[in-house]
Order: sequence, then C-alpha cells, then structure tokens
Amino acid sequence: MDSYQMEYKCPSCGKKHYMTAWSAVNVGTHPELKEKVLDTSLFEFQCPHCGYTSGILYDCLYHDPERKIMIVLTGQETENAFENQGDISQSRYRLRTVHLPNELVEKILIFESGLDDRAVEIMKLSVKISLMTDHEDLDVRNLYFSVNDSGYGFVVETDEGFVGEVPADESVYREIERNMLKKMNIMQAEQTLINEDWAVNFIKTTERMN
Ligand SMILES: [Zn+2]
Repeated sequence: MDSYQMEYKCPSCGKKHYMTAWSAVNVGTHPELKEKVLDTSLFEFQCPHCGYTSGILYDCLYHDPERKIMIVLTGQETENAFENQGDISQSRYRLRTVHLPNELVEKILIFESGLDDRAVEIMKLSVKISLMTDHEDLDVRNLYFSVNDSGYGFVVETDEGFVGEVPADESVYREIERNMLKKMNIMQAEQTLINEDWAVNFIKTTERMN
C-alpha cells in the first residue's frame, strides 16, 4: 500500500492528529484517488478537534500508467527527482517535478489536454507581461492553466489569492509549440522542473543564439 499515517499538528488549535498521506498515487490501480488529487483534497486535512482545514504538504508520486505520466510532488528543491531511476527516464514516460498541489493539478490538466507544458510556460510569460502592462496595479504572482467550457484559460493568482481567469489564445500556443520548442537544447528538453524559471532561462538562451 502506498499510504501511511502521518502525524500532523493543527495550525489552529495545536492538537496533534494522524492523517492518511500517500507516497504514491497510481491512477491506473486507484482511479478513485484522481478526483482527490484534482480537487487537492488529498493534500488537505480537517482537524477533528476544531474543524480547521489546512493544506498539508508531503512528497507524493503521481503515476498515470496509461498516459505514461509521472509527476513528483516534493517540497525539496531538486532539479531532477528521477535522477537515480535510469530505467524510467530512458522510457517514454513524461517526467515532471512540482512543488505545490496546484502545480500538480495544472500539469495533469495540460497533459490530458494534449498540450506541451513547456510551450504553456513560455505562453504564460507573455500573458503575465501583457496582464501587468494593461493593469498597472495588478501584481501577478502566478498563472495556472485551466480548462473551461469556452476553451483554455489561465487562473490569475496575486498576493490576495486567486482573483480571476483570462482566456488563453490557442493560436498563440500553437505558434510557440511550432516555432520555439524546436530550439530547445538537450538539457532544457530533459529537465523535469518546468516552470516560470525554466521558461525565462529558455528565452534567454534562445535569444543569445539569434
Ligand atoms: Zn485544530
């Protein structure tokens, strides 16, 4: 079994309890867990003493054998959580490292939409810049890819939390996917931590080449 009991101290009342934590979630054998990953309730716990709900971070490997996706959620600042697993990185698995449950959800949504998260991260940069240019008082901390009835979008996060959603222009995405990703070097292509830093680094190196 990939679950265990983890001691946790309620940040509100200070009482200690045990909660079920999952070191690995295989949605092939445990499809019922996927919903709890997507609504992040797998990483939340409600205190039985005072009722306070808090987010709990613990390391977890998300594994979708059918789609060949492995995503490590870890609090550790690691560049490549799969380094010592040569046989996996040689296979055709898509390997990713994320630091927050919301980032894990975002990766799943991107991959299940058939998109490339690297192109999405590059796209986010331009959306972020135009948002902050159009709204001078808006301090965008992060954008999260989202899927809604009218297509793709980005949920906007500022210091105040999630403040809204902007639509994503799919033609811009296709343009990035077609013209920019082929400029990736092997190191950039093999990295598993694909986030804003990755996109900034990629833009810098490709601009130096031109
Ligand atoms: Zn409590």
